[in-house]
Amino acid sequence: MGLWDNIKTLGQEAKAPLTGLGITQGYSNKERVTIEYPDVRRPMPRRARWRHVLNRYENGMEKCIGCSLCAGSCPANAILVVAAENTDENRRSPGERFAAQYEINMLRCIFCGYCEEACPTQAIQLKDICELADDNRKDLIYTKEMMIVPDPTKP
Ligand code: SF4
Ligand code: SF4
Repeated sequence: MGLWDNIKTLGQEAKAPLTGLGITQGYSNKERVTIEYPDVRRPMPRRARWRHVLNRYENGMEKCIGCSLCAGSCPANAILVVAAENTDENRRSPGERFAAQYEINMLRCIFCGYCEEACPTQAIQLKDICELADDNRKDLIYTKEMMIVPDPTKP
């Protein structure tokens, strides 16, 4: 390689970082497309359906009557409902029964919303809560306690 070729190579190598800096500078003047998540969150689409909740009536009664229609309609076989009878001493829902145990295996769920559509009391509802990642399988089986909304009659 001759002297002239060496000078050309040196020039190209010196130019490369300047080209990179020029590109960076060009983008720094443009409007940012990233956000500072998780301090800033983008609004979810109006029809977003993610994490489930189990609703209550205004008087604190559970809307779920343990009928298992949600479990029957789930194409992923992700829902487990174990019903128990309401009694005068322990009345949890306005119906004859309530869900003593309610679980959704979020590893199976495909967020189709069939459970919500099948529910006769609007007890189960998919909300726009999308941060569902976890580091172990056990914690992705959501229990009734994890999903039921707070009792509005209790402080
Ligand atoms: S959203 Fe679909 S897959 Fe998930 S629990 Fe409900 S019915 Fe099953
Ligand atoms: S969530 Fe609805 S469909 Fe499922 S068991 Fe409760 S009342 Fe029945």
